[in-house]
Amino acid sequence: MGSKTLEKLVSDLVTGRIRIVDLTVTLDPSTPVLPLPTEFGWGVSWPFSVETISRYDEKGPAWYWNNLKCGEHTGTHFDAPIHWVTGKDFENNATDTLPVDRFVVPAVVIDAVAEAEADPDFLMSIEFIRKWESEHGEIAEGSWVLYRTDWSDKISNENYLNMASDGSHTPGWDPSTITFLAEERGVVGVGVETVGTDAGQASALEPNFPCHNMMHGANKCGLASLCNLDQLPPTGAVLIAAPLKIKDGSGSPARVLALVPQD
Ligand code: MN
Repeated sequence: MGSKTLEKLVSDLVTGRIRIVDLTVTLDPSTPVLPLPTEFGWGVSWPFSVETISRYDEKGPAWYWNNLKCGEHTGTHFDAPIHWVTGKDFENNATDTLPVDRFVVPAVVIDAVAEAEADPDFLMSIEFIRKWESEHGEIAEGSWVLYRTDWSDKISNENYLNMASDGSHTPGWDPSTITFLAEERGVVGVGVETVGTDAGQASALEPNFPCHNMMHGANKCGLASLCNLDQLPPTGAVLIAAPLKIKDGSGSPARVLALVPQD
């Protein structure tokens, strides 16, 4: 223990024995935002926008800076338990109060690329996870579970939200899987490549939006719109994923990085 512990980490980073993978999409005005039904007069999440204050010009001859505007749940972002009504009464459930030890934890990556390709409404089952565990070992308590679909490859086109007349068609979780991960595996939360942590058709599931409902109802977190999960091993990576420290915030865009051992 002591200083040697971090010396080894820094040395491994410098020599490339540990690689840093960026799991974050670029924020720009075209970044897809979760579409919500408008028939009830529900609120709208602002897309990302940027307004230049000055760029070495008459507004500020030697400095460049911007004003930003967006919903908390825009681009690669962090969902705090307070995001859902089921998580509203936990202590330290918001972006400014969450214990920081949740922000640096191991991650496992479950590959469902083929299933998502074959069926955009694919829902990951407990059985699917148990099969993964039979190959890679039981999901360790306190891990992120990352759902690899390669869906992030679609982010610049309409196939990302995959909207039809009955709404979005993107993969997600069977409701029972969420209970299993939260209660029997004690995960920190789940991360996905799609625009939100639930399936596109999750409003029709029971309960509706099961990942939001039950993950946040178990005081767990979420990560959405991740990318580059194809560069991570099934186990052994460590995620650094922290939301902005917004007072009483429900989530925020985040820069999500993975430390990946190269041996
Ligand atoms: Mn969100």
